[in-house]
Amino acid sequence: MPTGKVAVFTTSGVPFDIVELPTPEVEPGGLLVRNTHAVICGSDLHGWRGDGDEPIPPIRRLTGHEFTGVVHSLGKDVETDSLRRQLKEGDRIAFPFFNPCNRCYWCIRAEHHACPHRGRWWTLEEHPYCDAGMADYYYLPQGHYVFKVPEELPTDAVPPVNCALSQVLFGLERANMDFGDTVVIQGAGGLGVFATAIASEKGASKVIVIDGQHPRLDLAVECGATDTISMLDYPTPESRVERVKELTHGVGADVVVEVVGVAAATLEGLDMVRVNGKFIDIGNIGGGSIEFPAVKVISNQTQWFGTVHYNPWIIEAALQFLVRTMDRMPVANVVSHKFPLEEINKAFEFAEWHGREGGTTANRVALTM
Ligand SMILES: [Zn+2]
Ligand SMILES: [Zn+2]
Repeated sequence: MPTGKVAVFTTSGVPFDIVELPTPEVEPGGLLVRNTHAVICGSDLHGWRGDGDEPIPPIRRLTGHEFTGVVHSLGKDVETDSLRRQLKEGDRIAFPFFNPCNRCYWCIRAEHHACPHRGRWWTLEEHPYCDAGMADYYYLPQGHYVFKVPEELPTDAVPPVNCALSQVLFGLERANMDFGDTVVIQGAGGLGVFATAIASEKGASKVIVIDGQHPRLDLAVECGATDTISMLDYPTPESRVERVKELTHGVGADVVVEVVGVAAATLEGLDMVRVNGKFIDIGNIGGGSIEFPAVKVISNQTQWFGTVHYNPWIIEAALQFLVRTMDRMPVANVVSHKFPLEEINKAFEFAEWHGREGGTTANRVALTM
């Protein structure tokens, strides 16, 4: 039986190990992906560090969700991608790392991002076995979405398409960010820099980016930020809220995007939203808590968009966005360091060190398969 390598994650503090698992038989309608690149995402590092309030139960599981690959084999009746473009073995493809069921209350309302059946278990013991981002193979079951990667795009540009890029693009689309809006981006990591570039492309009159690291803010400026707020110059939440008010003529922002991943940032961001403005909360998946008077959101009439995952068809828009902007903004050039899958422990340690030293979206760490 053919097999492939996968990285196995147990819990924070336990090194990954690499095991061989069977590759699945490709059912009618399915597609087996031969992975080529997987990026270490901020959320991977949260889990690896054990950032949440609760310890991660020590269960051996597969990992990696920000990745890309090529067609390894097509199941019976699969001849094209989701836009009816011919697919063949070896074609580069982008696809979501979750699978909406297409037959539930949410899916029939085109709310695929909220389908309760979309998650993948990623256990070692069950079909399709060798099936994750940090692995040799990934399996797209019948009903999956898949998009051919445009020829112009370098492969290194593609891994963030199915996580960071589609996530913030979907968030801004979902909240109907308008031409002329003032937009605040909290955090200039991977998600934040993409959000900056998209808000700028969508015609924001101001894109104000907040971060604690200057190289990240410089990159945000290259991606269309009109103003930056350094946490070194504005060290308290109150001073940053005040600065946003100044930059928006006392009004507050039309749209605030939280992509920090620290609970306190949500509280701070809510104070930056103008009356009846929008708050897009994406980053804070780590499980931290905040407390505030309930009337705060009511009296400010804040439109609060908690957002996890995206509608799969936004992947095509994300790919086209990269093609259109890659010569003007450093959005396609995101991987600077590569490690083979076997060196995953070294890669995570390097990514952690690199992040602390001011590493930016423009130099992320990828595993290659
Ligand atoms: Zn991710
Ligand atoms: Zn569904």
